[in-house]
Amino acid sequence: MIEFGSIINGKQEKSNEWIEVFNPFTKKKVGRVSSISTERLDEVLRETKNTKITLTRYERYEILNKIADELENRVDEVSQMITDETGLCLKDTRYEASRVSDVLRFSAMKALDDDSQVFPCDVSKNGKPRRIYTTRVPLGLISAITPFNHPMNQVVHKIAPAIATNNTVVLKPSERTPLSAYYFTQLALDCGLPPNMLNCINGKDIQATSEMMTVHPDISMVSFTGGSEIGKIIASKIGYKKIILELGGSSALLILKDADIDEAVEVTMNGTFKNSAQRCTAVRRILVHNSIADEYATKLADKVRAIKYGNPYDANNDMGTVITEEAAAEMERRVKKAIENGAICLAGNKREGALFAPTVLDHIKNSHEVVAKETFGPVAPIIRFETLDEAIDIANDTPYGLSGGVVSNHWPSIQRVITELDTGTVNVNEAPSYRLEWTPFGGVKDSGLGYKEGVIEAMKGYTYVKTYSLPWD
Ligand code: NAD
Repeated sequence: MIEFGSIINGKQEKSNEWIEVFNPFTKKKVGRVSSISTERLDEVLRETKNTKITLTRYERYEILNKIADELENRVDEVSQMITDETGLCLKDTRYEASRVSDVLRFSAMKALDDDSQVFPCDVSKNGKPRRIYTTRVPLGLISAITPFNHPMNQVVHKIAPAIATNNTVVLKPSERTPLSAYYFTQLALDCGLPPNMLNCINGKDIQATSEMMTVHPDISMVSFTGGSEIGKIIASKIGYKKIILELGGSSALLILKDADIDEAVEVTMNGTFKNSAQRCTAVRRILVHNSIADEYATKLADKVRAIKYGNPYDANNDMGTVITEEAAAEMERRVKKAIENGAICLAGNKREGALFAPTVLDHIKNSHEVVAKETFGPVAPIIRFETLDEAIDIANDTPYGLSGGVVSNHWPSIQRVITELDTGTVNVNEAPSYRLEWTPFGGVKDSGLGYKEGVIEAMKGYTYVKTYSLPWD
């Protein structure tokens, strides 16, 4: 069993209260982390705020790469731990570990970049013989709050850019999957991160802990990834602070009438079921042209029935569980309701505890609850359409605006989809989730406020621009 105390100022503090972590497949306890009181959290936030970090660019680069080296040496241990706390299969968690490495190495590279600009001032009749320079200054204390679905990668997406920019962070990972966040924090300290640059805490009283992590006056910025409902609560309470919100999604994949059907099936498979379909960018609605929908649906259902799912510790399996039995039962309920309302189930729809079989539903309407709400699990709902106008309207008829995709080789139609989808990302002949860890990433509407993550954007978000000017002939 893995056990961590709260990680504060470089040390682990154990308390009498613990947050316990269970594997969703075996239902066995896999670990626990100490719970912190709000009184102690208040002190931690104040002390972290007063810690100034002055690592050189090269020192930040070295630490970030050292953490990546260590994680790469421990990939079996790391993926096993993520599987322990999430029920995700080892194929998924090994992939997560490799993404974490990318985030760290990209952050290390960007830490070395000069991020300043220079403006000559003798450029108008109001000019002077001067030059204005910009320099980026760390914001200070960042409160990082993360979800369960990529328990290490979501954390590192917030922490690595903060290290690269000399900020301090107090991290509150999901209480459902805290182990990899504590493991990462301890590893970062062991690799030379200064004490108090990163503290990791969690509280049994989730609401009181979360509230303090958002409203505390010493926090300069809240960086939150999680559901839209909670994101909006934070936005309404936060007050005079910077905020990055990375929220829910309902990605549409548009399969146009000229699409290569085999390619469309492959893109769907890549975009839907990975990570037990618990990705904010997973395909949640497959919009298929009427003329090819029968053939596409048959081929997709054949592939989906062949997905090996079950015991997440079996290295041959392609999919493990979702996060809890309750989450799987809610998926089952929504699928049942859709079938009662006219959908046809072509594959899956079997549940055993937290295991939910990869499921294909045809003849879905955009109003069915299974697509109208974010169903965070392995359900592939097919919505048929006749015209491109109709497809774009359906794709946009959702509160979410995170990502989307189109399968086609007809450029004018592709261009319309890129232009007209109200989303932060559109991928062509590729899953909506595709990205690099340092490219801009984030959504609009209920998926976020338009500020992006991804290493480069996060580094900009964690700093403010100061200008200074010098005399210069
Ligand atoms: P969640 O919103 O339930 O929890 C996220 C975090 O918020 C947890 O650490 C939780 O303890 C904390 N929290 C709970 N109440 C809070 C409050 N009142 N104030 C502040 N924080 C509070 O999300 P989840 O179920 O862990 O994760 C799944 C959701 O996250 C999905 O909606 C998914 O789409 C979204 N997500 C978005 C992205 C993205 O980049 N856009 C990435 C991954 C997941």
